[in-house]
Amino acid sequence: MTASETVSGNVTNRDWISTGQLPTEDVVRDLVSEAHARFAPVQEGDVASYIPALAEASPAHFGICVAAAGGLLVEAGDAQQSFSIQSLSKPFLFALICQAIGEDAAREKLGVNSTGLPFNSVLAVERSGEGLSNPMVNAGAIAATSLVPGDSAEAKWAFIQEGFSRFAGRPLAIDQRVYASEIATNRRNVGIASLLQEQERIWFDPEASTDLYTRQCALSVTARDLAVMAATLANGGRQPCTREQVIAPLICQHVLAVMVTAGLYETSGDWLYDTGLPGKSGVSGGMITVSPGKGGLATYSPPLDEAGNSVRGQLTARFLSERLGLNLFASRPVEPG
Ligand code: GLU
Repeated sequence: MTASETVSGNVTNRDWISTGQLPTEDVVRDLVSEAHARFAPVQEGDVASYIPALAEASPAHFGICVAAAGGLLVEAGDAQQSFSIQSLSKPFLFALICQAIGEDAAREKLGVNSTGLPFNSVLAVERSGEGLSNPMVNAGAIAATSLVPGDSAEAKWAFIQEGFSRFAGRPLAIDQRVYASEIATNRRNVGIASLLQEQERIWFDPEASTDLYTRQCALSVTARDLAVMAATLANGGRQPCTREQVIAPLICQHVLAVMVTAGLYETSGDWLYDTGLPGKSGVSGGMITVSPGKGGLATYSPPLDEAGNSVRGQLTARFLSERLGLNLFASRPVEPG
């Protein structure tokens, strides 16, 4: 028996999983309302403008949604305001790729280590030597997009759109204005894709892969959609509202591991220190936090810090992680006896 067979042999026995539940509905409702009231007055951060259409977002918009693994949804503020998914697409695309080609092949082709560099770093691709990064940054996500099943760009797009819609539990559509705006200005991502080609780390036409990646980043979602999508990752891959098994339970834990490592780019360590949970941010102002076994949290608030992470989103995640008792590293000493 090889070392990896020993490991995967253990994985079939999942009886030790013990992740608890969210507090009662009333407690969750009170805390979500309190988080909204507490952080709505925060004025720090700037709305992203390097994609021109994103600069039109209102800095005042602020929505929170918690989706429990059992299907309960609790919202506050602008939880039904639409915005483009941007980088929040990355964990879901990675999940679909792992499901399609296997989690070991996905790791080998894309890498799963933090780059410690910004999300759109070209240096990250050059520095690793072999073109490896991870699927939470642009290079790894464009490479992951090139692995989507299908012989043509349109077949690949159908796979992406259907897969994302299954996570959301409703058909998701592109915000054409955001897509056109990013396509007109995304020379950096096109450059990253050609660098990947030079390193033999892209498996479909680089320009077409970048276009598909850009389309998926322009899918229009709400905080409510994202909370349910995050809750699917918290629920062994089963969508909490439709009850559809979107991806296998084992894939979820690998996706969450990479989110912990790199979900907030070069500030992933600070995030983990504050929340103790897998998370992901996007430049349009969305954030997701996953509490395995319990549920998903999503926020929408466009003003970002310098690393491109929503300011109110981070405050909310930190507050709710603590008050809902979600931190994965928290424990209580066992009483002897
Ligand atoms: N579409 C964006 C880009 O490629 C996503 C970045 C993000 O949300 O962090 O620049």
